[in-house]
Amino acid sequence: MLIDSHCHLNYKGLAEQQDAVLERARAAGVKGFLNISTRQREWADIVATAHRHADVWASVGIHPHEADEHVDLGAAALRAATDDPRVIAIGETGLDYYYDHSDRQVQQDLFRVHIAVARETGLPLIIHTRDAEDDTARILTEEMGKGAFPALIHCFTASAEFGQKMIELGLTISLSGIVTFKNAKELQAFAAEVPEDRLLVETDAPFLAPMPHRGKVCEPAFVADTLRFVASLRGETPQALAETTGRNFAALFAKAGIAWTIAA
Ligand SMILES: [Zn+2]
Ligand SMILES: [Zn+2]
Repeated sequence: MLIDSHCHLNYKGLAEQQDAVLERARAAGVKGFLNISTRQREWADIVATAHRHADVWASVGIHPHEADEHVDLGAAALRAATDDPRVIAIGETGLDYYYDHSDRQVQQDLFRVHIAVARETGLPLIIHTRDAEDDTARILTEEMGKGAFPALIHCFTASAEFGQKMIELGLTISLSGIVTFKNAKELQAFAAEVPEDRLLVETDAPFLAPMPHRGKVCEPAFVADTLRFVASLRGETPQALAETTGRNFAALFAKAGIAWTIAA
């Protein structure tokens, strides 16, 4: 049950050849795709893709890079977009202080809007965080204290200490192709230690192609390479890890309604 928990099928590089990209991924054993939005004007397109394919689902949200463009986006508009049956997640949202493309306070305010909608709808929050560990942890701790909500850190690249804190807060950790990079030793050590019920894999395609595809346009088929690499780090078979991460996906994204039967 190999699933790409985070891809951007409507982004340049994949959008022009979307059907072929999906076919190659299915041929590589990928059974499901979560197509992630980053701007409000993309939502309709991203949801439409999910309506065309039974194995594609959609998220709605605003990437922290785009926060400045969405200062007026209220919880009501975001909540209304989640009514669609193919929308199973909120995000990606969060904080990115590495690029600082948007004002930090605006990023934080919008992050909290997404959190409120995740809490209200019960849909998982997909969090992007870069060079913003302290504020991400502070906001999540404060907001979890007001009422729990399901959430994951996507494309996890932060410190093991931050990762441990996220696990304690109840979050799931999603690993991208970055974990396969030669210089990602600390991340690889952490990946081996993530509790098995808190782990997902993703591509973040069209970005961040894993080894041995590094430098190419990333596509969801490559999630199989990341899965194989993480399985070897953990001393598991790829089949076992695909089953574990597939089960985690089905449990976290319950609205997807994936029928899950444990292999006999
Ligand atoms: Zn991201
Ligand atoms: Zn992304």
